[in-house]
This record gives sequence, structure tokens and C-alpha cells, in this order.
Amino acid sequence: MEATTLAVADSPTLSPEINEIRQRTSAIVTEEIIPNENLLRRDAPDSGELRGRIQERVKAEGLWAPHLPIEYGGMGVGFLGHAYMNEVLAWSPFSNPLFGVVAPDSGNQTILIKYGTEEQKKQWLEPSIRGEIRSCYSMTEPDQPGSDPYSIQTRATRDGDEWVINGRKWFTSGAHRAAFAIVMCRTEEEDGEGGVRDKMTQIIVPTDAPGFNIIRSVPVWGHDGDHCEIDYDNVRVPVTNQLGRTGSGHQAAQDRLGAGRVFHCMNSVGQMWRAFDVMMQRVMTRNVHGGPMQDKQFIQGFIADSYIDIQSARLMTIHCAERIDAGVNARSDISAIKIAVPAAFERVVDRAIQVYGAKGVSTDTPLEGMYRGARTLRILDGPDEVHRIVIAKNVLRRYRDGMSWDFGA
Ligand SMILES: Cc1cc2nc3c(=O)[nH]c(=O)nc-3n(C[C@H](O)[C@H](O)[C@H](O)COP(=O)(O)OP(=O)(O)OC[C@H]3O[C@@H](n4cnc5c(N)ncnc54)[C@H](O)[C@@H]3O)c2cc1C
Repeated sequence: MEATTLAVADSPTLSPEINEIRQRTSAIVTEEIIPNENLLRRDAPDSGELRGRIQERVKAEGLWAPHLPIEYGGMGVGFLGHAYMNEVLAWSPFSNPLFGVVAPDSGNQTILIKYGTEEQKKQWLEPSIRGEIRSCYSMTEPDQPGSDPYSIQTRATRDGDEWVINGRKWFTSGAHRAAFAIVMCRTEEEDGEGGVRDKMTQIIVPTDAPGFNIIRSVPVWGHDGDHCEIDYDNVRVPVTNQLGRTGSGHQAAQDRLGAGRVFHCMNSVGQMWRAFDVMMQRVMTRNVHGGPMQDKQFIQGFIADSYIDIQSARLMTIHCAERIDAGVNARSDISAIKIAVPAAFERVVDRAIQVYGAKGVSTDTPLEGMYRGARTLRILDGPDEVHRIVIAKNVLRRYRDGMSWDFGA
């Protein structure tokens, strides 16, 4: 895999604490992960010992699990610290699990901390944090639009002290390896009591429960990523497996996604940064048509456009993170970065692939994997169109109320 080096200097606009986190993260990425990327690939021979060694160093340096509070064994770094750490960490596509952040476990852990009872935490959260068990998140259904969370048809009905779950989900990532699924269920009929937001509940389902049937793993971009289609056939679990109060499922899903989008965007920024460095390495070393690539104006245009894409994506994301951190309503900002950053990511990787020619679409560089990832991000966590609607609604509401939009607020 094409490596190059990661350059992280202290920023005069950041606090000493955040600068230090970025430097220590960068040291581990540079010294331990980048030189070993070929050994960390999924298709490489067993790299358990190497992973263990890197994880020990991450823990010793206090950089383990930035998404978790200190009392749960995490960094307790706060929202902005985590965001800034992610852009450095994500320079290598192998970093996240080595820093204790594994999707979808990290999102499930966050939900369990917020909504779980003491018993649920003991049974599911603590072993998940210790890495003894894996989990999955089962919300999207093949026959309903995942972009409309109110359309879910998987039903949980009460039978004495049990929930009985019936329905079909798909794209439940990691289900084959999971000990439990957090399943989004309809617990109130359309015409039932409560508002539209109060009809869903998230329920913990052990994957060895009778009726939890994995039908197949759906390949994505020609690869098997363990995205499973699951038939829930009269799955019975105790009512104590429900997360939070009945009807809180929609809010819990929002909690999971809202702030998480900032972290995903900073991950994308880190990957764009890598793609840019990889592109520059080619530009500096390749001769084409009688001259260095770096002297060609088309290529200089690529450099400038990618610089602008990365810096604007990054600043938008940081601005959004600062607003969330300040307790300001940042719904429009979150939707804006959810659209703008994956699109910028796709453009930056696309240009890097172009300068590499055939090598760019081969697995000799990390670019082809990044390209698939960037494209997929435009669908995950709400497709672009849904986020555009959110922004337009928020803006129109203000103008209809006789106000205008203050971009500086
Ligand atoms: C690799 C991968 C991993 C995933 N992992 C998980 C997981 O672990 N758990 C899980 O539950 N789900 C997972 N998903 C599913 C993902 O969350 C959904 O794909 C996403 O929410 C979109 O839902 P959908 O695919 O049903 O598309 P739909 O909701 O059917 O949308 C399809 C398209 O319709 C258009 N559209 C939708 N709404 C509007 C609108 N209002 N106006 C105009 N156009 C619109 C958009 O172009 C959109 O892209 C995963 C998906 C992928 C690709």
C-alpha cells in the first residue's frame, strides 16, 4: 500500500490539550500503523499480535476509546477533542479499531450508556467495551425506505413479560459476529396513541435467540462486508431488554446519529488528507509527456481544487462541532456537513485516482477503497436528499416567520 508520511504540527488556534492529543495520535499512526499497513489488511495473515501491541501503546498513552467517558475506560476527551483527534487518526484506514473505535459497537456503546439499565450495562455494555463480544444495529428494512425512520414495519408486540418481534431487516452490519443486536421496532400502530415520534422502541436481541435467522450477507461493491439480511420470526425477549422507555426509539436513533456525523466527517477529512498526500507523491515523482507532472497546469488545478475541498470540508465540520459544543441548535450545520464532506471526499479521491492512472484503481494504493467508502457515505446516515430537505425546511421556517438567516450566528 502507498504510504507517504503524515505531518501534524501544533496549531496556534487549538488548546494545548487538543494539540497534545493530535501529536500523540499522530506519533502512533506514523510509527506503528503506517509502516505496518500491509500486515493490517483484512486479507493479510493473522496480525493479532501486532494489533495487540499497538492497542497496548494506545492504552498506555491514554488514547483508548475517545467516544467513551473515563468511568467506562475511555478517554473522556470531550466532543471537540474527539473530533480533532479523528482527522489525524483516520489518515490510516486501519486506525479506528486500534484506538478502540469499532463500528457499530461504538455507536451501540454510546446508546447503552445513555439509555441502558444497570443490568443491561453489566450484561451487554461492559463485555462489549472489554472487546469480549461484538454487536450490530438492526434498523434498515428491505421493503421500506431507510431514509424515513417512521416507515419501519418490524413489530414488537407485548405478550406478558416478553416482547415478540416479527419483521425483516437488512444491511445489519456485523451480524454474523455479533452477540446481540439493537433492533428498531414499531411498538405502537400508526393510529395508536402518541405522536409520530413515539411509536418506535429499540430492543436488545441476543443473536442466539430462537427466530433470529440470518438469511444472507449482502455483498457491497463486490465485497462481503457482513451486511446481513435477517428474518425476525417470533423472536421472544424479556421486556427488560427494551432500551429506555417504550416509544423512545426515534430519539435514541437521533442521539446515535447526530453527533456521530461530526466524527464521521472528521474521519473523512483524515482520509482526504491521506488521498491528497498520496496524490502529491505521484505528482512530485512522475514524468508525463516530456515533463514532470507537477509542471502541468491541469495537475496544478487538481492540487488547488483538492486543497480547497479539504480545507472547506474541514472548516465546516469544525464550525459545526464548535456550535454543538456550545449547545447551539446545529441541525442545519449537521445536515450541511453530511452532504458537503462526503461529496468533497469523493472529488478529492477521484482526482488522486486520476493522477495515478491504472494504479489508482488497483489495490496498490488505498485510493480505490476510499472511493467506494466516499460514495457509500452519501447514502449512509441519511441520504443527501433528506439532509437537503432539513436545511431547506429550517431556512424557509425563518423566512416565513419574517426573519432572515444569520450565517454568523
Ligand atoms: C455499507 C452499508 C452499511 C450499512 N449498515 C447498516 C447497519 O449496520 N444497520 C442499519 O440499520 N442500516 C445500515 N445500512 C443502511 C443505511 O442506513 C440505509 O441504506 C440508509 O438509511 C438509506 O436507506 P435505504 O437504503 O432504504 O434508501 P431509501 O430510503 O429507499 O432511499 C433511496 C433514495 O431515495 C431518495 N430519497 C429518499 N428520500 C427522499 C426524499 N424525501 N426526497 C427525495 N428523494 C429521496 C434518495 O435519492 C435516496 O438515496 C447500511 C448501508 C450500507 C450501504
